[in-house]
Amino acid sequence: MNLHEYQAKELLQNYGVPVPSGRVAATAQEAGGATDTLGGVAWVVKAQVHAGGRGRAGGIKIVKSADAARGAAEKMLGGRLVTAQTGAEGKVVNRVYVEKACDITKEIYLAAMVDRSIGRVAFLASAEGGENIEEAAAKSPDKIFKLIIDPATGLEDADAGKLAQDLGLSGMQADAFARALASVYKAFLENDASLIEINPLAVTHEGELVALDVKMIVDDNALYRHPDWQKLWDEAEVDVDEIEARKFELNYVPMDGNIGVMVTGAGLALGILDMLKDRGGEAADFMDVRPVATRDQVAAGIRMLLGNSHVKAILVVTMGGGVLRCDTIAEGIALACKQAPGHVPIIVRAAGTAKEMAELALRNQGVDVIFADDLADAADKAVAAAKTSARGKGRK
Ligand code: ADP
Ligand code: MG
Repeated sequence: MNLHEYQAKELLQNYGVPVPSGRVAATAQEAGGATDTLGGVAWVVKAQVHAGGRGRAGGIKIVKSADAARGAAEKMLGGRLVTAQTGAEGKVVNRVYVEKACDITKEIYLAAMVDRSIGRVAFLASAEGGENIEEAAAKSPDKIFKLIIDPATGLEDADAGKLAQDLGLSGMQADAFARALASVYKAFLENDASLIEINPLAVTHEGELVALDVKMIVDDNALYRHPDWQKLWDEAEVDVDEIEARKFELNYVPMDGNIGVMVTGAGLALGILDMLKDRGGEAADFMDVRPVATRDQVAAGIRMLLGNSHVKAILVVTMGGGVLRCDTIAEGIALACKQAPGHVPIIVRAAGTAKEMAELALRNQGVDVIFADDLADAADKAVAAAKTSARGKGRK
């Protein structure tokens, strides 16, 4: 789950990372009022979307009056912000963040992430931070410093000091940097983060270090041990289908294609996506149903796929084994289809426990599905059905 900048800043501030004071606003009026509450003479109005590159796309505006803040917010709110990271569709701006403007003398890049190749938390840092970090990294990769943390020892003072030195910081600034590093590391671990990226971590005119932009991703799988995330979640503008999927314990990832896919087993699901691709098809999603799924959970998954206007055909692949029975899947399909008559073609490949019962149940209930003999046949039929499906609009 991606956090918004204002959420990530509030969280990091609680760990002792200095951030400018700011207020989140959902209306232009609130944005104007925020300048009075915050005080000062200059503020920055920032579009809250889950993407960087806002500065270059008009999503960051420095303002010097409440009126100007209102105007900037007016322009951003309700519109779609297209940045280098959003794709052509852009992202809808539902909130802006108004924060005090800082006088910046230097922009540092600092990120903590999981280095999957070694399974450890690693920091990346550069003195060439700010909006040009990508170019700087491409042009001179030697200016990006990496610090890998040994979980047995944690972040060590000497390593933090060395990184500060690499970035050209000394004295009080090096100390402030080491403190920020320790705070970010603690926040990273305690919040099951997969990324905390501060860019820029600005050195201000007064010589202080302040986090001006924070991007943070926390691992959804840890939601159960962070009940406080529910609020973050509600405000994080997660896709409604993803919320629905979570409610019904479906492992769901939306994708760009037009074949809705439901599979029992994540590995098998990945294999199916490849098989579709080999045949010139594109999946609209990855959906893995757990072995202990109920009929209602299956029905919820099928309903989601039926409700997706991009989906031209649905492929259900189930291997009934262990506790999972094919007839549970069949009942779920039947339930969803009855609520959505005239649906897109549904191709079913069922194997294993209660396969015959599943087929019988669907036939007896008059649910219109196409049975496939094996996986290859199922993939062929799904790709063919998506090409000829009557639901003409949407993605190719
Ligand atoms: P993005 O990375 O999405 O473009 P940032 O929040 O990093 O958005 O803002 C872009 C640039 O705007 C920053 O690199 C910084 O130079 C400037 N900026 C952002 N916030 C402030 C602030 N509070 N005070 C002064 N400058 C800011
Ligand atoms: Mg930034």
